[in-house]
Amino acid sequence: MCAATNPNPPKASQGPPLPKVMSAAESNAAAASFARLTSRLDYLSAADLASVKSAYRYSDEAHLGQLRNSGEPYITHPIAVAAQCAEWKLDAQALMAALLHDAMEDCAVTKTDLIERFGSPVAELVDGLTKLEKLQFNTREENQAESFRKMLLAMARDVRVILIKLADRTHNMRTLSDAPRTKWARIASETLEIYAPIAHRLGLNQTYRELQDLSFRYLRPWRYAIVSKAVAKARGRRRDLIQKVQADLEATFERHGMTVRIYGREKSLYSIYHKMDEKNLSFAQVTDIYGFRVIVPGLIDCYTALGLLHQLYKPVPGKFKDHIAISKINGYQSLHTTLVGPSSINVEFQVRTEAMHLVAETGIAAHWLYKESPDESKANPDRLGSKWLQSLLDIGNETHDANEFWEHVKVDLFPDAVYVFTPKSRIMAMPRGATVVDFAYAIHSNVGDHAVAARVNNEQVPLRTEVQNGDVIEIITAKESYPNPAWMGFVRTARARSKIRQHLRSLAQDDSQNLGEKMLAQALRAEGIEHLPDEQGAMAGVWDKLLRFSGNRTRSDLLVEIGLGRRIASIVAKRLAKLLSDAGEKPNALLLTRERFMAGEAVAQGGVAIDGSENTSVRFATCCRPVPGDPILGYLGRGEGLTVHHRDCQVAVKLKNKDSERFIVVEWADEPVRTFETGIVVTVNNGKGVLAKVASALAAAEVDIIQINMADESPQGAVDLKFIIAVRDAQQLESALRNLRHTHVVLKAQRITNSN
Ligand code: MN
Repeated sequence: MCAATNPNPPKASQGPPLPKVMSAAESNAAAASFARLTSRLDYLSAADLASVKSAYRYSDEAHLGQLRNSGEPYITHPIAVAAQCAEWKLDAQALMAALLHDAMEDCAVTKTDLIERFGSPVAELVDGLTKLEKLQFNTREENQAESFRKMLLAMARDVRVILIKLADRTHNMRTLSDAPRTKWARIASETLEIYAPIAHRLGLNQTYRELQDLSFRYLRPWRYAIVSKAVAKARGRRRDLIQKVQADLEATFERHGMTVRIYGREKSLYSIYHKMDEKNLSFAQVTDIYGFRVIVPGLIDCYTALGLLHQLYKPVPGKFKDHIAISKINGYQSLHTTLVGPSSINVEFQVRTEAMHLVAETGIAAHWLYKESPDESKANPDRLGSKWLQSLLDIGNETHDANEFWEHVKVDLFPDAVYVFTPKSRIMAMPRGATVVDFAYAIHSNVGDHAVAARVNNEQVPLRTEVQNGDVIEIITAKESYPNPAWMGFVRTARARSKIRQHLRSLAQDDSQNLGEKMLAQALRAEGIEHLPDEQGAMAGVWDKLLRFSGNRTRSDLLVEIGLGRRIASIVAKRLAKLLSDAGEKPNALLLTRERFMAGEAVAQGGVAIDGSENTSVRFATCCRPVPGDPILGYLGRGEGLTVHHRDCQVAVKLKNKDSERFIVVEWADEPVRTFETGIVVTVNNGKGVLAKVASALAAAEVDIIQINMADESPQGAVDLKFIIAVRDAQQLESALRNLRHTHVVLKAQRITNSN
């Protein structure tokens, strides 16, 4: 009987959203702005241009009916972003991605759609942009902004993603006045704290200055108005000065037959404001508002031009900087000097070559601009003195692989970090390869110590999972949970490693202290005293005296030393008994007699009870592997804690002859809390399936197999199998051996002992 089901149930229609009617005016506006873009694309091949046009048509259709805040059709925004990218001469893939950058986010276009239509490189770029769009920066802490910037850079696998993102942000800032006023502050401060510094890091200085000035305008509109008015006024006042300097310069360079480009430069409004704010200056006190740039043909000409300038006007001491020999980290190169100009006004000068100028204004984008440059003098790599950019250009030229190029930039900027979020959007930098446990310890050692599970981006993951850029990580803790020694195998950070080690050590310390306490209490009973005195109260003075005698700082230090066998319990107990007696607590005669009498017996009533919970402080000797029910002895090695042997073990017998005072009376607790390992040897007739039969006989007795050793096969076919098994006690061991003896392939089964 079988119900027929249709394997392909009809799906709801998933076509693109229904087209809305576009007004003639809107469609004209879109076409006009695209025409402006295509006029800048003359550096593309015909095939590339066709691809860009098809991306435009697709995007135009996808955004159909959507409007910008200004009321213009939405497509004008992607076109403006692409136009900025075209100014940097980015390749066709980047321009296509720029045109499509909001399509996935806003128009139900999927990555698969884009792969099919435009290929995966373009789809990856758009996907990268969509991911960045989802990151929101919403904290005011300074170091967080730095981390956020780095995360953004690290997340973008391709530098073109960052460039398109910067173009996107630039256009949004240029049109911010159209956006609702309530959004201005957030967007402007995000731009100022995140995007402008990224532009700076990548050397896109023009974009950097523009983003700063625009942010300033929306964040501090009044101050912006005041500064810009003041600059305009000053500009008028100093017009004569500027013209005089310009004329002097032109005459000087002409006299020496040097072809240079000279132009005046004005400090950006934000940098003036920032300087006033930071150094507490009035506008009049900011002297370096004007400067000049001198662009010279070659590297050596920079120094010649500098010499000429220093002849023309007196240099201000201490203001000369050679950023050619030592370039800035973002690739910037120039000679800087300040001269005392006409009317004793200080004027700043920057001297550089065309190639340096290109890098100074556009930074990393010079990579594309440079490739496109038809001018032979620019294309000479020697002229591009910046080692940083040069190495990038070399990689770019050799492999033509923008990703490799970008990886190189990232390594330069921030070597090994991964940036992740806490659930409260705090950003944490973790070393590459760090795991969830490292993250937990980075938050707080309590979080690490009690971590039991984790959710990464809302999915449950194992604690050993490596964290990735942009992950949102939540650690689940439980009070009763503690670090697992296995974590040491995968944690990457020194902090996690040392915290786990510290915890394990303190666990061992606790174990030793508990054992020491048991041993001292037992030894004290042999002196006729029932209980250890309390640490506080009437007997506190007794402990102080005892510690003075033993030389330990604290009671627990003393107990740990006893537990580790560094100190003999009976000697400490004798001293303690004397101190107690001095303090008025006399031994109990009955107890004394009983303990003395029993001490000689095989099983002492007051021995240290072993139940298996002692962890590191008690070890079970591997020569004889005692299990509950066996007669046992405790040997207190120096500094090694207590080792429990079978009473008949030869090793123990030898030790006892040599070192008898180090043996203490131990006994099994009534209910041990775990299983114990012991060894058995099973002699079998070898053959197919023998091991399985032996294993099932052991399983029938509920015994776990820890380890199997097979001796070489003997010619007769009889073979010894040695097992380490885990049992609750001697009784269970006996029943397992009985089971084995009843298995027909088994010739012999017995426990491995170390006795005579
Ligand atoms: Mn956008």
